[in-house]
Amino acid sequence: MQTNGVIKSGIEALLEFVYPSNCLNCNEYIEQPGELICPKCWDKIYYTDDIYCVGCKSAIPANLICSKCKIENSLPLITLGHFASPLGEIIKQFKYRGFIKMSPILVNRILDIHAIIIKKIKADLIVPIPLHSYRLKSRGFNQAEILADNISMKTGIEVNKNSLRKIRNTRDQKLLDHNERIKNVKDAYKVFDEDLRDKKIILVDDVITTGATLNEARKEIIKAEGKVVLAIVIATAGSIY
Ligand SMILES: [Zn+2]
Ligand SMILES: [Zn+2]
Repeated sequence: MQTNGVIKSGIEALLEFVYPSNCLNCNEYIEQPGELICPKCWDKIYYTDDIYCVGCKSAIPANLICSKCKIENSLPLITLGHFASPLGEIIKQFKYRGFIKMSPILVNRILDIHAIIIKKIKADLIVPIPLHSYRLKSRGFNQAEILADNISMKTGIEVNKNSLRKIRNTRDQKLLDHNERIKNVKDAYKVFDEDLRDKKIILVDDVITTGATLNEARKEIIKAEGKVVLAIVIATAGSIY
């Protein structure tokens, strides 16, 4: 009897861990099984259907060409919203506790908001921002890869996880200011094969702050004769976007 109780509570604890019944953000009980965020918290997110320019951070028009950066430097960016509560909290859970279940929910929301641009750009490949192998080992997964897989499932666009690699382990960008961030990721990425050549590419990351990482990855893809047509992130951080 006691053994059964122990086993049962063990299974319950595991189920609680996999499918917690309380909202990850406000801790309110959620009636619908399998949901991680309560409907109230979802409603609190300020969703944006604006398209931003990674280069200069301004909102850009529907033709996707930034008037400041012109065609050669324009990289349109779509996102769910700003990294403020509750979206910031949701992403933190996603990143540090490994709630892989969160990714398709966030991705579906972004792709629903931005369905028109996804159709319009006709991308060939999705490339997630890679982690250095050392960081990947300690974290156990790359959140950008998980997002990329979910974007691929919904759009049918293929993912390439091998061509772009991080060749240098960098300091945590969170601890650095704008100029330090640019220096920190300089030449940290490299394309290792020909698979990106002449391809229209969507770059994927979880959060953008200064754009240093996306710009650096894009620079390497251009060197490999690929074309980055869009960046997708879950949230924008800082006061710039
Ligand atoms: Zn909630
Ligand atoms: Zn611009």
